[in-house]
Amino acid sequence: MTEQKTILITGGAGFIGSALVAEATKRGYRVVVLDKLTYAGHRMNLEGIAGEHQLVIGDVADATRVAGLFKKFPFDGVIHAAAESHVDNSIAGSAPFMHANILGTHVLLEAAREAWKGDATKRYLQVSTDEVYGTLSDDGEFTLDTPMLPNSPYAASKASADMLVRAWHRTYGLNTIITRCCNNYGPRQHPEKLIPRMITNALAGEQLPVYGQGQQRREWIHVEDHARGVLDAFERGRPGGIYHLGSGEERRNITLVQSLCDQLAAKKPGRDYRALITFVEDRLGHDYRYALDLSSARAIGFTPQVAFAEGMGATIDWYLANGAWVETMKQWRGM
Ligand code: NAD
Repeated sequence: MTEQKTILITGGAGFIGSALVAEATKRGYRVVVLDKLTYAGHRMNLEGIAGEHQLVIGDVADATRVAGLFKKFPFDGVIHAAAESHVDNSIAGSAPFMHANILGTHVLLEAAREAWKGDATKRYLQVSTDEVYGTLSDDGEFTLDTPMLPNSPYAASKASADMLVRAWHRTYGLNTIITRCCNNYGPRQHPEKLIPRMITNALAGEQLPVYGQGQQRREWIHVEDHARGVLDAFERGRPGGIYHLGSGEERRNITLVQSLCDQLAAKKPGRDYRALITFVEDRLGHDYRYALDLSSARAIGFTPQVAFAEGMGATIDWYLANGAWVETMKQWRGM
């Protein structure tokens, strides 16, 4: 990179956002993080990132605040990762999801359009999800031609946001990219999400609640691979392009949880972790399977680097070593 570029990363104090800040600063960008520090975001997630970054606390749906940021910093690009992200929370109460995920995206698109005034060298990237497509049966993969048929309030809010991004590209010529990624795992994932929840409950000797019979299938990618893929798409994607980021590593939920138990048993013996598995009433509208066609990822030269077994082992090690982080996040959430 010849001249240092400044980019805005929203949600940078969250799980994926902090991995994006680490990857972007490693690639030489100066990063401004906009984060509301909801229960899911925390300053400590940015600690230890060596490159140039600063945190601005604020709501991405606050139009005045966001417009002010674009006046203060000459952003060369935006990576929009801020969102309410937990499906179960969206089922319990959808309003914050509509606010953050739809209104937040609208505010950001408008701020970028206003500030960049048709300058096609500036780029807006939307961090999206495979959940916008709905669900698959045992065969097949989501392709870029698959219609969006979201099933949860969370997925509907993310699909709505993707629709806005498409429209801002088609109508105003904004230089946009959308990435759609599969399920992430890795360090600093909030303890309410499946893998951290299973690890932390197991360590505490608490039940491991598995929805239905745990037969749902998910594709898993390490968060650092996701971050690399987003930056690859940001740097090499074509304007208006959509890119799938995945790993091909598919597991049934029950298989994943059993394997976590077995790995924990090897790393921290003394308890029958599998005996803690408890089947609970299935999630409403629970999608059966997601899997992504990855030809668009290959087109930007992206291939995941973290092998599933090593990545999962390192993730368990991270949670074993970072009990204080887990406690802080739980207290911050009121869990
Ligand atoms: P997360 O919940 O860990 O982090 C979200 C971050 O956004 C937090 O730091 C939070 O404080 C911030 N935030 C929430 N609402 C905000 C608002 N109104 N204004 C400013 N900041 C706000 O979520 P995550 O799992 O890291 O997901 C990040 C992005 O990646 C989301 O857009 C999500 O839809 C997408 N995604 C996640 C996955 C996954 O497996 N976790 C997979 C594909 C895509």
